[in-house]
Amino acid sequence: MKKYDPASNIQDLLQFGEFGDVNPSITDSATYTFMEAKTMVDTFHGEQEGCFLYSRHWNPSNKYLADALAAMEGTESAWVTASGMSAITTAILQLCNTGDHIVSSITTYGGTFAFLANYLKKFNIEVSFVDITNTEKVEQSIRQNTKLIYTESVTNPMLQVSDLPALSDIARKHGVKLLVDNTFTPMIIRPAALGADIVLYSLTKFVNGKNDCVAGAICADKSFVEAISDVNSGSAMLLGPILDPLRSSSIHKNLHTLHIRMQQHSKNGMYLAERFRETGLRVIYPGLPEHPQHKLMKKLMHPDFGFGGMIAIDFGTSQKAAELMEKMQEEGVGYLAVSLGYFKTLFSNSGKSTSSEVPGEVQKEMGLSEGLIRFSVGLDHDIERSWQKIFHCLKITGAI
Ligand SMILES: *Cc1c(COP(=O)(O)O)cnc(C)c1O
Repeated sequence: MKKYDPASNIQDLLQFGEFGDVNPSITDSATYTFMEAKTMVDTFHGEQEGCFLYSRHWNPSNKYLADALAAMEGTESAWVTASGMSAITTAILQLCNTGDHIVSSITTYGGTFAFLANYLKKFNIEVSFVDITNTEKVEQSIRQNTKLIYTESVTNPMLQVSDLPALSDIARKHGVKLLVDNTFTPMIIRPAALGADIVLYSLTKFVNGKNDCVAGAICADKSFVEAISDVNSGSAMLLGPILDPLRSSSIHKNLHTLHIRMQQHSKNGMYLAERFRETGLRVIYPGLPEHPQHKLMKKLMHPDFGFGGMIAIDFGTSQKAAELMEKMQEEGVGYLAVSLGYFKTLFSNSGKSTSSEVPGEVQKEMGLSEGLIRFSVGLDHDIERSWQKIFHCLKITGAI
């Protein structure tokens, strides 16, 4: 059987512009004309395929990007949104009603945690937070009114690997949906092929890779994309988190280099993880054999794209982490900044930044120490040179 190749699937799409442009034309329009009034009525009622009505509903530029993402993921369809958070919230709000219940990984992106733990209270939707690597616990937490299981392929910031086939079996057995945020591992892990019903992305990170905009995506089957875009009941259509077509066009171009970038992020990630480990630091990286889900990761991942560009290391206290990060920035290792998937290395102290929405006692429960630094390793050409800078910073700040 031919190996699934997300990059070739994107490459093989014939998506050229109106005038034979090698890049699809950017549709800079909010609304669209119809030659016949009846076509407009049919389009409104979803009975006319291939016609555009209004850009909150569908925009051709967004459709090009969505089609390319669906090709990458191997899903029937996809939808792009103005942020990763809006992709996540749109999908969840579409599936849940007042009084429903969700089982979620306790380690997720901070914004996702806050939405699940705080915001959904408005709708009386309860969430059970569990250690997602404990699949028995996941199954035990399912109730009569559970609608979905929520996780990240590789969780933020603890880099636990979700056993997607096992979670999918549980979801199927109990008739609930499996939603997977794959922001950390595009191309590396393909959740849809491993049993996820809906795959979510913050395109802001690796997929776009340039840190010049915020965007998101939902990859799913056709019926779900139709449901979220329904003019009467679709959460995407009615809440309206629409990506600007100029932006979707620039993200689309960057998507075409994603496979090369992921390989380089992973190559550099593995290199630094090993160097860090040699100093005796406790390194969390799924590519290291001592990572608790290393074997699982090897089973789930695409061999061409490596173990990813994210590394987490505990430096004990937030004070120590701060000193080291400031020094690394000074020495040109990268930037002290939140976010990830950028061409330069970024580092932040998770407990005080991207996971600060997670209460202290929950941070403890998920094993997030106050001194944890999350590294998003960049595309550095000479990674040994970068390591020498880091090593100097580790020494000078007394981290090793
Ligand atoms: C950043 C991030 C999000 C949120 O995405 P935005 O584009 O910032 O809205 C969701 N999940 C993960 C894993 C993230 O890293």
